[in-house]
Formats: sequence, structure tokens, C-alpha cells
Amino acid sequence: MPWDFSADPEFEREIEWMTAFVKEEILPLETLDLDFAAYHRLTAPLRQEVKDRGLWAAFLGPELGGAGFGQVKLALMHEVLGATELAPPVFGSQAPDSGNIELLALAGTPAQRERWLAPLLAGEAFSAFSMTEQGTGSDPTQFTTSAVRDGDDWVITGRKYYVSATSRADVHVVMAVTDPDADRRKRATLFLVPSDTPGIELRPIGSMNDPVPGCSPIHSQSEVLYDGVRIAGEAILGGRGGAFALAQRRLGPGRIHHCMRWVGVCRRAFDALCERAVSVSVHGGPLADKQMVQTWIAESAAAIEAFRLLTLQAAWKVDTQGVKASLTDIAMIKYAGAPVMHDVIDRAIQIHGSLGYSTDLPLEGMYRWARASRIYDGPDEVHKVTVAKRIMRGYEATDVPTEHIPTRRAAALARSGVGA
Ligand SMILES: Cc1cc2nc3c(=O)[nH]c(=O)nc-3n(C[C@H](O)[C@H](O)[C@H](O)COP(=O)(O)OP(=O)(O)OC[C@H]3O[C@@H](n4cnc5c(N)ncnc54)[C@H](O)[C@@H]3O)c2cc1C
Repeated sequence: MPWDFSADPEFEREIEWMTAFVKEEILPLETLDLDFAAYHRLTAPLRQEVKDRGLWAAFLGPELGGAGFGQVKLALMHEVLGATELAPPVFGSQAPDSGNIELLALAGTPAQRERWLAPLLAGEAFSAFSMTEQGTGSDPTQFTTSAVRDGDDWVITGRKYYVSATSRADVHVVMAVTDPDADRRKRATLFLVPSDTPGIELRPIGSMNDPVPGCSPIHSQSEVLYDGVRIAGEAILGGRGGAFALAQRRLGPGRIHHCMRWVGVCRRAFDALCERAVSVSVHGGPLADKQMVQTWIAESAAAIEAFRLLTLQAAWKVDTQGVKASLTDIAMIKYAGAPVMHDVIDRAIQIHGSLGYSTDLPLEGMYRWARASRIYDGPDEVHKVTVAKRIMRGYEATDVPTEHIPTRRAAALARSGVGA
């Protein structure tokens, strides 16, 4: 089947507008050290501009006020938004809200949609997706946080580790085991839990990206204790036992957006690398003339382009064949892209020397955030296992390798009659 990743001229114009908007209106905010409240206040007019242009929450279908772009266009859009972590919230496209909005749109009851979907969509409320438990994040079938029926209510007890955006979340989408004896993929259920429900305790966690918890306006993570948290029966999202199936649907296209944002990060670091190469001369000539630097530039350019095309191909496959047919591609882009992003930023830091290592440039921050990409959304190793298993399903065991030359020679001789 032929590939076509081109966009129509109208969408090309939107990409041009977004590129200029991110560069002129959003990138400067990075330098201001804003907390979330100040960032949210300052970006209100920008969010309105995006809404007026019809680009708000573009991942949604038109029936929910989104642009209904499809994955290739969304991928191209996220490449632009990836330049700075401050851009996706201005476009109503930030994780984890975008994924939670999709879940509510997909599986929410009318009452849940009215209470949570509407304010989340408007950008007036925020959410967290509370799934992982420490040490078993790669294997959700081992989670132990439980929800037990008590009269008409459910009571949730357990501890989740490293949940993003809890400091601003109004609602937690919590995965809890409701049916421990059921098939392992049907044991868990998703619940919508208002963040002010008694029994929820947060412990903010610092990280490589956010050493003092709360210093990043966008990224903040917590350990969350649910200590006998009581919620009404209608808080179930998407049916009892439906957590894994729903979570899977949430993660697929979301990963394409993550990866295209990484391409955006790569481009920014690559531009810094090339700019420095042509700007500084040492040991008798410009850095741009040193073969080692040329190798960095040539290899980075090829790696970024390969990663970008692989990701666009996954997006195109989702658009043309659906998520289920694209699972291998969606798993592949994660571990293909994370090291590319790491290496390009690393070279950009290296060429700037101490300036690159310092906080006078954004490269050290990009480097710290890039390290997380090999872990969140499933560690690289888990995706590699998935891809290898899926590929190997297409192969059968043989007694003699298909390429075995003596066997092939005997067959060729018998067929051609040579030497008979
Ligand atoms: C920035 C960031 C944001 C996050 N946000 C959220 C959030 O909003 N909500 C949420 O619920 N969680 C969140 N997480 C947690 C994330 O989902 C988990 O970290 C991830 O799923 C891995 O789980 P784990 O940390 O428990 O690692 P573990 O499951 O303990 O795995 C540790 C390591 O074991 C190795 N490993 C695991 N399985 C295999 C295998 N099959 N083969 C070979 N090696 C293997 C890998 O090297 C892996 O890194 C976030 C994490 C990060 C870093």
C-alpha cells in the first residue's frame, strides 16, 4: 500500500500558524519560572486564541468540539507542540488529561460526562490517571490496590506510585482490583474519584526533571495513598472489569503523540547543535569543519528522520487500518525514538561544553526529561518483548534453516537438471 504523509494546503497553513505561535507566544514563557497557577493565568488568552482557531483538543472528534484530524495530522501537530512542554496545555492536548478525556468520551455515562468531561474539555478542570504501583508498573496484572463493595458504595484501598499531575487534578481515574478471581485481564475496574474525597493522601516525589517537587509547572508526580476511600457505585468508568481494555485504548494513539513531541524536542536540540557548529571556531577552524562534529550532525539528521517516518507510518496505519492492526508499530516507535532523542540532546550539550551543561541553556533540562521517556508509558524493554513476540508469530520452526545452502543446492540441481 502506498504511503502518503502529506497534509492538505489548509492544514499546512495551520502547521505554519502553530509553529509561529509556539515560537513567539509560548517559548518565551519557559524563561519565567512560573508555577502552575501563574502559567495557567498567563496562558488564558493564548488558550482562547487556540479555541477560536478550532485547534483546541484537536484529538477529539467533531461531535465533542475537536477537529477530528486523524492521527497523521495530529502527529504533525504534536511535532510542533513538542518544542516545549508548555505548549500542549495551551492546545488542550496535554497528558494525562487528553487520554482521560478520551476515556470519558468513550465510556462515560451521561452523568459522568456532564460532571467531568465538560470541565476537562473546557480546560477548567484537570485529571490524573492513577494506575502504576511501585515495582510492578510493567505488569498491571500484579496490581493490588483494591475496590470492595460496601452497600451501594465502593471502598478503595491501596498505594499508587508516580502518578502525574496530582497536584492540580480535580479527579483521579483510579485502576483498582474488583474481581481478584476473574481472568487476569478482567480483574480491574476504573473509578472516577474526586481528588478531595476523604482518605486520599499525596506524597509529592522529586525526580531528575523536578528535583524539588513542584518546581515544574507541568510535570509533578506523587505517591498516592487511597486509605479506605469511599465512593458511590456510579463512579465506575466503563463497566466492571473493563480497566485493562480501556487503558489499552487510551495508550495507543497517545504514544504516537508522545513520540512526535519527541521529534519536536529532537529538532530543537538539533538546531542548537548546528547553530553552535557554525558559530564557534577552535584549533584553527570552525567546529562545523571538524569531522567528529560532522558525524554528529549527519547521524543525528538521519536518526531523527528515520524516527519521524516510523512514527508517521504508525499514525498512517492507525488512520487506515485501526489501532489493533497497528499495535506492533505503536510499540516500536517508543523504543526506537527514546534513544534518538537522548543522543541528539547529548550531542547538543557536548558541543556547547560547560554552557550546554549549565542552566543558561534549556538543553540540560531537556536531557533530564528525555531520560524519563525510556520508562513512562511502559519501559522500552516491555515494548521490545511485545514487538519481538508479535514478529516471531510469523515464523515457524524448521529442522533445517531455509537458507541452508547444501539443501538449496540439492533442490536447485534437481529442479534445473544441471549435472544430471
Ligand atoms: C515521568 C513519568 C510519569 C509517569 N506518570 C504516571 C501516571 O500519570 N500514572 C501512572 O499510573 N503511572 C505513571 N508513571 C509510572 C509508569 O507508568 C511506570 O514507571 C512504568 O509503567 C514502569 O513501571 P515501574 O516504574 O513500576 O517499573 P518496573 O515494573 O519495576 O520495571 C523496572 C524495570 O524492569 C525492567 N523490565 C520490566 N519488565 C521487563 C520485561 N518484560 N523484560 C525485560 N525487562 C523488564 C525494565 O528495565 C524496567 O524499567 C510515570 C512514570 C514516569 C517516569
